[in-house]
Amino acid sequence: MSVPFFREEHELFRKSFRSFVERELRPHSDEWEKSRSFPREIFRRMGELGFLGMGYPEDVGGGGGDYWFNVVYGEELVRSGSAGLNMALMVQSDMATPVIGALGTREQKAEFLTPALRGERIAALGITEPGCGSDVAGIRTTARRVGDEYIVNGAKTFITNGTRADFITLAVRTGGEGYGGISLLLFPTDTPGFRVTRKLEKLGNHASDTAELSFEDCRVPVRYLLGEENQGFIYVMMNFQGERLIAAVAAVAGSQQALDEAVKYGNDRQAFGRPIMRFQVWRHEFVDLLTELEAGRWLTYRACDLFAQKQECVKEISMAKLYCGELAVRIADRCLQFHGGYGYMEEFPIARRWRDTRLLTIGGGTSEIMRELLSKRLGLG
Ligand SMILES: Cc1cc2nc3c(=O)[nH]c(=O)nc-3n(C[C@H](O)[C@H](O)[C@H](O)COP(=O)(O)OP(=O)(O)OC[C@H]3O[C@@H](n4cnc5c(N)ncnc54)[C@H](O)[C@@H]3O)c2cc1C
Repeated sequence: MSVPFFREEHELFRKSFRSFVERELRPHSDEWEKSRSFPREIFRRMGELGFLGMGYPEDVGGGGGDYWFNVVYGEELVRSGSAGLNMALMVQSDMATPVIGALGTREQKAEFLTPALRGERIAALGITEPGCGSDVAGIRTTARRVGDEYIVNGAKTFITNGTRADFITLAVRTGGEGYGGISLLLFPTDTPGFRVTRKLEKLGNHASDTAELSFEDCRVPVRYLLGEENQGFIYVMMNFQGERLIAAVAAVAGSQQALDEAVKYGNDRQAFGRPIMRFQVWRHEFVDLLTELEAGRWLTYRACDLFAQKQECVKEISMAKLYCGELAVRIADRCLQFHGGYGYMEEFPIARRWRDTRLLTIGGGTSEIMRELLSKRLGLG
């Protein structure tokens, strides 16, 4: 398929990144799934090859490319076969760090962003708390300013890369109640008083680590404040756009892979003397799913195009996240059904994909929150 947004340099990058994913990631995905982790070295290797920062400016250690490099990265990463690994890497490149690129001082970029893009320091994004996730304005982790320091107290949960992050882009309460009292801090995890309370056991995405964290009288220098004090809610919402968009990109690419694998299976597997793909009921269902996926892909590309041009696109990104997330979950479920009993067996990729995909309507803002946001944007009261 020819996509006008991808130029020769994007396709060259696609070729080299695809070959890396297939050579250095894919062969280990089963092992990493079983061990529920992947080597820290992968961050460093990806950084060394420039894969973590293709869309960042060169002066912070990035590749100086446009957003379409991130799209290629998100599309090709699904070939690793490990959604957990992909999530960890996308947190590093597209979720915990863009806000540093957008708001950070030169010193903050040198201390946090550049080493993250090189894969030398692992990044996490700390917003969700045990008592609140969707309602970001309700966070309770406080950062009280005393002289040249903030003293941080509270807890975070569901934090990807949380057990081994070197720093966290952390949402804290520096002011009063509600969205006006939130700030973003760059929080080094070697700060005394910080603790990984526990590593969480998940339904899927097993290769990524997800943690509950606690902060007890942690002293962080004021110079680690990102942007302005009490403007953090706006920054978090701004940062969510890239997170949701790359999630939609990955949802489309993963769904395409699921359908391709299912079609292949359906042409081989026989029932009642013919390949199961020949049953009209399934053929028609696959036509519908492929049609919907094509619609989701172009909705996502439309959002990417606006995002790449730095135009207003909250509506398009929210629609892409909502539509492609819901569609991916349905496609994974229908593909599992199409595999019959084999779909329920761990030795078939669809079993893992079914578990992993379920996150897409929850993480980075649930489908219900996307609908709420869209209701307001569309003037539906
Ligand atoms: C594997 C995994 C990795 C994650 N990684 C990170 C991470 O790295 N960093 C981070 O900060 N967070 C992370 N999260 C957290 C994720 O973003 C939240 O789980 C998500 O935003 C939902 O918040 P919640 O779990 O508190 O659900 P809740 O907010 O408690 O929502 C529960 C239910 O109520 C619904 N609901 C809530 N409000 C409304 C409303 N106004 N209208 C209608 N329905 C509503 C929700 O849609 C949902 O169905 C991760 C989560 C998972 C599962």
